[in-house]
Amino acid sequence: METTKCFCLCRPCAGIFYIAPDMRKFEDSYRHKGLRKKLIDSIKNKGISDELVLNALMNLPRHFFLDTALDNIAYEDRAFPIAEGQTISQPYTVAYQSQLLQIKPNEKVLEIGTGSMYQAMILAEMGARVFTIERQKGLFDLGKKFVLRKRYPTIKYFFGDGFEGLPTFAPFDKIIITAAAPFVPPKLIEQLKPGGCMVLPLDEEGGQRMLRIWKNEEGALKEEAFEQFSFVPMLSGKSR
Ligand code: SAH
Repeated sequence: METTKCFCLCRPCAGIFYIAPDMRKFEDSYRHKGLRKKLIDSIKNKGISDELVLNALMNLPRHFFLDTALDNIAYEDRAFPIAEGQTISQPYTVAYQSQLLQIKPNEKVLEIGTGSMYQAMILAEMGARVFTIERQKGLFDLGKKFVLRKRYPTIKYFFGDGFEGLPTFAPFDKIIITAAAPFVPPKLIEQLKPGGCMVLPLDEEGGQRMLRIWKNEEGALKEEAFEQFSFVPMLSGKSR
């Protein structure tokens, strides 16, 4: 049987299993849609009300990011392991951060921690112009080959250290960090547009606190604190 390397990013198949090309189709059946609708209802019940976020979650099939073997659980509200010991975030967490960002169509958004690219594609579905950085070369290379990227040609994808941001493309209307930051990265604050905000989980004693930091027109910062979450750590430098 002719086989090809699986392009999804989940840990069981990345680089280990090979699957027949016809087994890995981007099919979004009524069953998938039904499971997704249920997931979104549960996320609504947890307090997410931004229609732009809810529509994006409905439009982007999460099972496309996972091996077909995980189809039955792809719509459970939990994180899953992907390649290189990283995770695809829990849908509620993705929705929570996306809502805090208050995205308006065409805004320029910088994401730190591309991972599976699910969050980046949700932001693109919401109409943002996304710039996303991943520090793990293995994940970055897998992401480059991810066929779903064709659906979001405006997403700009970089291999680099998120602590540095992307000075060449700054300033950004909004910035989102999807790994737990040990401190608020000063270079990212510099790259934030006046009037914009940055959403990040900050490591603190006993957990990680979601923060939103607004920069006003004069450059002054205002910090808001939200719930605690659980993310993989934001690490400095690039990893080969
Ligand atoms: N947004 C992702 C979540 C991935 S988990 C998704 O939707 O799937 C967090 C990711 O942040 C990991 O892939 C990790 O490698 C990456 N990361 C950690 N520190 C980083 C840094 N300094 N710069 C860029 N990416 C980083």
